Amino acid sequence: MNLLSSVSLLLTLFLLPVTSVTEAAGDQVRETVQESLQSQEQSEDWHLLLVNRWNPMPEEYAVTLKKLPGGLQVDERVYDDLTAMLTDCGKAGLHPVVCSAYRDTATQTRLHKNKIARLRAAGYSQEAAEREAVRWVAAPGTSEHHTGMALDIVSASYQKLTKQQEKTAEQKWLMEHCWEYGFILRYPTDKSEVTGVGYEPWHYRYVGREAALAMRDNGLCLEEYLVVRRIAEAMSVHIETSQETAEAVS
Ligand SMILES: [Zn+2]
Repeated sequence: MNLLSSVSLLLTLFLLPVTSVTEAAGDQVRETVQESLQSQEQSEDWHLLLVNRWNPMPEEYAVTLKKLPGGLQVDERVYDDLTAMLTDCGKAGLHPVVCSAYRDTATQTRLHKNKIARLRAAGYSQEAAEREAVRWVAAPGTSEHHTGMALDIVSASYQKLTKQQEKTAEQKWLMEHCWEYGFILRYPTDKSEVTGVGYEPWHYRYVGREAALAMRDNGLCLEEYLVVRRIAEAMSVHIETSQETAEAVS
């Protein structure tokens, strides 16, 4: 067995429990995963910063923002790749609209409270509303939007944040091409158990080109990728991508 197939076997063994365990066992796996990730975030990997309901924003984290034409702000290091992606999407005859980018804690608190209020109005108990709300609007401090590297992008012709968004030509284009610019669709439909967030066919996250390609080619979400990367590093191998395969063939 060569190195790569042994890595892929290891990954299969490792990832299987994450996606197929019961809720209780899932919590345990996630805890282990989160613990192993805590020490991993280093400054050169700024674009791999993990923020989710189990990993709030680091307290001392400072983001330098740059304004998009519409007034929303992003981490300045993401600006050029984002602009290139939106421009190329436009050149394809489409009209993507960034409807949410960087959010401060106050904004997130307001959105989170609104979501709970809407669920309460729909008949949820306070406890159930709080539990359901975090699947859709992260609690303050745990939203990726605090990083300035997450964006909600919608079609100009259909701006609702619903599952229908995936049917728009803009989302189809973005889902197909985002990795070329270093972005991923952060909450795919089949990864909710791992990400803790429901399917959002509008939320894109910058992770850099190398990681975006590796995640796309191996069908990994960010949480999974960080674990896989750690194993690959420990084994002194790297995660193969389709680009390398193509280069090796040509
Ligand atoms: Zn979002």
